[in-house]
Amino acid sequence: MIYEDTEITDYEEIIETSQTKIFKDSSVLSPDYIPKKLIGRTKEVLKLAKVFKPIDYKGYPFNALIFGKTGSGKTVVTKFLLQKLMERLEATPNIMDHHLQCIYIQCKTNCTINGVLNEIIKHVDPANKMPRKGFALAYYYEELWNVIKEKSVSLVVVFDEIDRLKDDEILYNLSRAGEMQKLPERHFICILGISNDLDYGKELDSRVISSMSPKDHVFAPYNAEQIIMILNERVKIAFCDGVVPQETISLCAAYAAQDHGDARKAIKHLKMAAVYAEENDFSQVLPEHVDVTLESLDVDRIQDMATYLPLHEKIVLLAILKLTNYGNPSTNSQTVTSLYNQMCFEIHKKPLHRTTIASKFGDFKMIGLIKTSSVRKGKGGGWKDIRLSVPSGTAIEDVLYQDYNLEMLRDFKPAPFLN
Ligand code: ADP
Ligand code: MG
Repeated sequence: MIYEDTEITDYEEIIETSQTKIFKDSSVLSPDYIPKKLIGRTKEVLKLAKVFKPIDYKGYPFNALIFGKTGSGKTVVTKFLLQKLMERLEATPNIMDHHLQCIYIQCKTNCTINGVLNEIIKHVDPANKMPRKGFALAYYYEELWNVIKEKSVSLVVVFDEIDRLKDDEILYNLSRAGEMQKLPERHFICILGISNDLDYGKELDSRVISSMSPKDHVFAPYNAEQIIMILNERVKIAFCDGVVPQETISLCAAYAAQDHGDARKAIKHLKMAAVYAEENDFSQVLPEHVDVTLESLDVDRIQDMATYLPLHEKIVLLAILKLTNYGNPSTNSQTVTSLYNQMCFEIHKKPLHRTTIASKFGDFKMIGLIKTSSVRKGKGGGWKDIRLSVPSGTAIEDVLYQDYNLEMLRDFKPAPFLN
């Protein structure tokens, strides 16, 4: 123990005072970690494994598209399965007469065709000098066929968040490569696409669909019990014994279950709460730590975002906040639009058209700021109920008043007829 007036001379002393008693191995809480066992996804793993079944009888695997909301385990199940596939091929080398390589492309960060081709080329042949940009696409394809021949490999290419890909053409060309005799005999390129967007498959070009003929896999969201089990497994490895009580785990799971069963969020809530507990010298991660960090997380994020909104969006947001911050749990799109118009008038700005304002509600909903529901039919067309999805509206209001245009609206109250 070091007291206020003790001189610190030794690094060990510093460490001792701040020594963590919460975490044992926090790396297993990172989104990239692949757990030793998967919870509640046996059916999905078995079904997805069938994609590779033909390899057993010298055939070509199928292509597949995997859909499901965020945090439903799409990425982890795919990586887990590929890990098992590779382990099996290593243990039983006579299954294939050449090597198989699995390549994982995150389309969020690599979405151009030349970028993706380059990443595949470099994966197959790390010494390859092909630059990432600057050549016609045909060169990248040629180079890919060359390195595949040279290294004599078949490929499984995972396109995660495939909907971010700028152009479907690459899926067409890769899935047709065998047929077009670009690959050595009995070699293949298998494509697995992962998407949070359930409608992605419908948007694909029919040429791509027919050359890929993908098998569709849909992952249902997790329920609270499944998330509890996922967290329990992770807690055993990540934390020191007895540090995380069951109530904390249940609370994280309950929040995540409300949020469409997002396991990633559940793990993130737990990690944030644990960091808070550690920083504040608690010996356990308690449910109230989850609440504290959740609020600050959401408010911080929304405050940041609110600062950079264009002026008219700020006014719409301010109208929503004014109507929901003072005891009213919800308001509606008509009332918000009317208050928006009043406030525009007050600060001498020309209001945007009603339909433009309506589209802003959609934007706010997408970023998780509001929830909208039940379009009601009224005299002037339909309208929506609007509720704030973040805990502290007043903190966000304060950020908006920092914009000099909005300063004078601080004391502006919604006219009484509005509510
Ligand atoms: P998605 O790709 O569908 O958005 P992820 O596969 O990234 O979701 O999963 C989100 C988080 O939850 C990851 O940290 C992952 O390890 C964990 N996870 C998801 N499903 C399971 C599962 N069945 N068993 C164990 N951990 C899981
Ligand atoms: Mg994912």
